[in-house]
Amino acid sequence: MSTQQILEAITAGATGDEMAAVPLPEAFRAAHVLRSEVDMWEGVESEDKDPTKSLHVGDVPLPELAPDEVYLANMASSINFNTVWTSIFEPLPTFGFLDRLGKESVWGKRHQQDFHAVGSDSSGVVLRVGSAVRNWKPGDHVTVHCNHVDDQDPSAHDDSMMAANQRIWGFETNYGGLADLSIVKANQLMPKPTHLTWEEAAVNALCASTSYRMLVGGHAARMKQGDNVFVWGATGGIGAYAIQLALNGGATPVGVVSSDHRVKLLEAMGCENVIDRRAENYQFWSDEHTQDEGEWRRLGKKVRSLIGEDPDIVFEHPGRQTMGASVFIARRGGTIVTCAATSGYMIEYDNRHLWMKLKRIVSSHFANYAEAYAMNRLIDQGKIQPVLSEVFTLEDAGIAARKVHRNEAEGKLGVLCLAPEAGLGISDPEKRDRIGEDKITLFQRHARGEL
Ligand code: NDP
Repeated sequence: MSTQQILEAITAGATGDEMAAVPLPEAFRAAHVLRSEVDMWEGVESEDKDPTKSLHVGDVPLPELAPDEVYLANMASSINFNTVWTSIFEPLPTFGFLDRLGKESVWGKRHQQDFHAVGSDSSGVVLRVGSAVRNWKPGDHVTVHCNHVDDQDPSAHDDSMMAANQRIWGFETNYGGLADLSIVKANQLMPKPTHLTWEEAAVNALCASTSYRMLVGGHAARMKQGDNVFVWGATGGIGAYAIQLALNGGATPVGVVSSDHRVKLLEAMGCENVIDRRAENYQFWSDEHTQDEGEWRRLGKKVRSLIGEDPDIVFEHPGRQTMGASVFIARRGGTIVTCAATSGYMIEYDNRHLWMKLKRIVSSHFANYAEAYAMNRLIDQGKIQPVLSEVFTLEDAGIAARKVHRNEAEGKLGVLCLAPEAGLGISDPEKRDRIGEDKITLFQRHARGEL
């Protein structure tokens, strides 16, 4: 048995029954880290930790399928920052998450292994469904969102991101998307947008849904028409979707990037208000312990010079380096919405600027199923485009992760798993023409130097 037979069946357009009859292998190729290597970076600075050394690609055993799960053939996946965190074992080795899950139930025990198969995005084909799966069948083309919750837990039934045992698939669970096969809960599945290739469809769910909840969904900043939205890292994974959601929702984005190359990309996306933080040389911290309020003011003035007002919403994720400035520049009554802390999680800001101007800091984390589904629909409608810039093979997943770790990539990096080459998987070419090849491939054309 090999995954080659699965690929042949998918390529031949096998029916659901035919797909369900294709034998499954006992082991499959997966990008994974090893428990035995969690101490390998001792004494190494964070920026020098190289994911190509810790992220291995090799066979892992196929686990048994739980009743509420499907076996999925991953055609493509993507690199998210969480795979960087796992592969540099920061801030903690992710084996702790797997051990905790292993203690929860007999099904959870399958995740507690000495390998961690990573990856929190996928587009692919359903191979088998567990006995409790109702809405999906073998042969379905799907994308996967990474919110892993136990739907028999009452705490999951208002907002599933508030579930006591909420986890991120492929980061806090095993058997993620950077692999030929995965196990996925049925309530992680969404229909694959028909006009996209496998790799274009695979890069959206994690980052786009995160940005959707932060800006659009009812739980965080609740952006409305006319809002000014200040976005850090505006051509990065979550930032590039935030810019698109602002433009699509009648808001005015102000995007921050760190090179001329990225300024051009942001302008090509239709963002008219752009700040190059490197050219402006903002130094928010004068030393390790002291922030410079003058620099916050300089940024605030720059924003006013572009849009004449202060931001209603600040889309915050760099963390320690920028949070002081983010709190300062938000307008009176404005919202700072945060989902991360790439540059450090011990945050400092001047609380006087927060309370005296009645601002609020709102936390956000991934998205619930309804939010992810709503975001997937916007992509399916062609209102939001994938921000895929480059495509890697699964064998090169470590190289792709290193690029993200070093802030050398724009948008999202796609990874081909079972898909033998890029460009496959489009099932509605007319719709693709209607939406526009140029729009869909903007980030790829920019990466090739064609803008
Ligand atoms: P990317 O690397 O794709 O983009 C991050 C962008 O942030 C970069 O393009 C860079 O833009 C900018 N940036 C990096 N460092 C700094 C800094 N010190 N000051 C200002 N800007 C900075 O990552 P993602 O967008 O995928 O993810 C961003 C963060 O969000 C990560 O920490 C990730 O773990 C987290 N995340 C959290 C999620 C959640 O559910 N809570 C979901 C998804 C991501 P430039 O240099 O051009 O300014």
